[in-house]
Amino acid sequence: MILSGTVVVDPSTVVDEGAVVVDGSTIAAVGDRADLLERYPDHEERAFGVVAPGLVGGHVHSVQSLGRGIADDTELLDWLFESVLPMEASLDAEGMRTAAELGYLECLASGTTTVIDHLSVHHADQAFEAAGETGIRGVLGKVLMNRRSPAGLEEDADAALAESERLIERYHGAYDDRVRYAVTPRFAVSCSEACLRGARELADAHEGVRIHTHASENRSEVATVEEDTGMRNIHWLDEVGLTGEDVVLAHCVWTDESERDVLAETGTHVTHCPSSNMKLASGVAPVADYLDRGINVALGNDGPPCNNTLDAFTEMRQASLLGKVDDLDPTAVPAEAVFAMATRNGARAAGFDRVGELREGWKADVVGVDTDLERATPIHDVLSHLVYAAHGDDVSFTMVDGEVRYDDGFPHVDAEAVRRRARAAAREFADA
Ligand SMILES: [Zn+2]
Repeated sequence: MILSGTVVVDPSTVVDEGAVVVDGSTIAAVGDRADLLERYPDHEERAFGVVAPGLVGGHVHSVQSLGRGIADDTELLDWLFESVLPMEASLDAEGMRTAAELGYLECLASGTTTVIDHLSVHHADQAFEAAGETGIRGVLGKVLMNRRSPAGLEEDADAALAESERLIERYHGAYDDRVRYAVTPRFAVSCSEACLRGARELADAHEGVRIHTHASENRSEVATVEEDTGMRNIHWLDEVGLTGEDVVLAHCVWTDESERDVLAETGTHVTHCPSSNMKLASGVAPVADYLDRGINVALGNDGPPCNNTLDAFTEMRQASLLGKVDDLDPTAVPAEAVFAMATRNGARAAGFDRVGELREGWKADVVGVDTDLERATPIHDVLSHLVYAAHGDDVSFTMVDGEVRYDDGFPHVDAEAVRRRARAAAREFADA
């Protein structure tokens, strides 16, 4: 297949009247459209306004998809303990499957081809199966919680780690290595030292397994960790082994200078979630400073109950605007940096090689974006358009690993049936 249009190769390289040639699961060539049509005469051409790398959701909760709108305008700890965690605890295997499918379909329809997904304590298999079925690329992990957790979610650390190991053996590298595992403590507040150290040991025992957790999202979380350990949160995570090039920390809103030094020195990845941070009034992550320090910053929508959308385009816009107003500097967090966060930085955080840019020999994770729209007229600068004006809804075509997964509809999944099941499951827990 040849995908043609204005091709965004990477955040600083654009080919006007370009094309991407896809063979199997990889990109065979990128360049001038006329030239490639001549070189590949047997390939079917699909034309779009813009052809771009698939976006990477660097921190999402697909299994919270049934909780969209259940706890708006609420303080974080009430939001978490009174609404979101009880919802997670109440979902049975079928509900979890439906939630994950719904989340992945929303991602694919709006141009996200890879997710780093924080699942729940129970029924994690369902999300792995949903990733297999919908075709999304992802690093997924069952949540670890062994203290300060509501009924139904707290587990013994050894049992939780053993279940994580079973999931690693079953799903890490599954579906042609499209799906991988991350050991996923909820956060330091709900995990004992033994649990956190166990997470590191488990990741070390399996090549390519990552570690993904929430860190320093909120001031009361940081204060609680300090009371528990006498240390700032990032120092504590570093102490128990949860920093490094295989670690993805969501949020990192409240970090001091010495913690930022640790993040930079260890090569720890940070996922910025601006909409979630604004909606829960958590604060403003110092993204411009992280980027200046060379910290790899990805971008994430977080979960439907705190965002309430998995549209990565709105997240790019929010990231740039929030960074500017925070620094009172309109040059801060420019479109190019944000697009990098949403693509190659995310792929780096997830640990997938040859993902996040459109290059010969790289994975064919590609989106086609419609520009025959008022908000896309005119386009003086395609990066500016994608970051500041485009919506996820403008995506009309999504390919992952060379397979078409969205083409103004889902060729492999009955999305109407998923939505029907989701409404029924949401009614069930709302009535409970
Ligand atoms: Zn989260």
